[in-house]
Amino acid sequence: SAKNYEFINSVLPQWLETSRLQTVHGSTAAYIPELAKAPQEALGIHIMCGNGEHVSAGDCGHVFTLQSISKVFTLILALMDHGEEAIFAKVGMEPTGDDFNSMLKLELVRPGIPFNPFINAGAITISSLIVGDGPEEKSARILEFFRRLAGSDTLDYNMDVYHSESETGHRNRSLAYFLLDNGVLGGSSVEDVLEVYFRHCAIEVTCADLARMGLILAFDGKDPLTGDTLIPRRYVQIAKTFMITCGMYNASGEFAIQAGLPAKSGVSGGILTLVPGQYGIGVVGPALNSKGNSIAGVHLLERLSQELDWSIF
Ligand code: GLU
Repeated sequence: SAKNYEFINSVLPQWLETSRLQTVHGSTAAYIPELAKAPQEALGIHIMCGNGEHVSAGDCGHVFTLQSISKVFTLILALMDHGEEAIFAKVGMEPTGDDFNSMLKLELVRPGIPFNPFINAGAITISSLIVGDGPEEKSARILEFFRRLAGSDTLDYNMDVYHSESETGHRNRSLAYFLLDNGVLGGSSVEDVLEVYFRHCAIEVTCADLARMGLILAFDGKDPLTGDTLIPRRYVQIAKTFMITCGMYNASGEFAIQAGLPAKSGVSGGILTLVPGQYGIGVVGPALNSKGNSIAGVHLLERLSQELDWSIF
């Protein structure tokens, strides 16, 4: 409502600075060398309304790569390409309780089928399912879809991050080999699938782009600014459910209790979240907590949600 909007506008800069103090307790992701270079103390937020008005505060000019946030939208594209039945023959619907890059349950339970599309094994499987003739066409379709959702023709890859991850991503490579061995990758080769996966993780955005993408989810797949339906409602519903159950790594339960919003975070410190029917929200704070989520970003979102009564529960 207009009242909420005015209130957010008035408190946001101050609340952001309070949350920024948390960044000293976190650290940037180091396993992708290029990501370790991000500014530790950065924090930015952009909140976009259904009428296009927005409020932002902090380091909104900071550009960062989507990383795991991209998994929300590759899942949606794969669902649009193949339908639910085909997708859930290849990935499950359950949280794991393990680390995002774990291979433990690929061997222990339902051999070869990743537990959900947000752990790396699941997302790599989803990358293999995107329609397209080889990694170039698949990647081009993903980029074009993301551009449409963000309402920006200029969205593109950060090739330094792409190469940095491609050169060092041996764990993802081993996950992909495991999937290949279990017959989950269809006809694709490991390197082809990883090219698609590393590329969509390396798409570069700002908080405003995230907010715009979140807004589409907040309005059930319909872009409130243009009136165009970009995603079928059912697939938004599926994506938002995974965001609640698995979107914040092994802190998804805690975030559901403290903020109560569908959200997806990534190792670059980005968080995409939304308030259904109201706002799309993009946050970035590269310093991560022990669960791998932006330490200051989570702090700020939990405060906003609690003060404004945003929880969907
Ligand atoms: N590209 C990253 C990886 O595969 C994404 C991880 C993440 O953001 O959780 O390790």
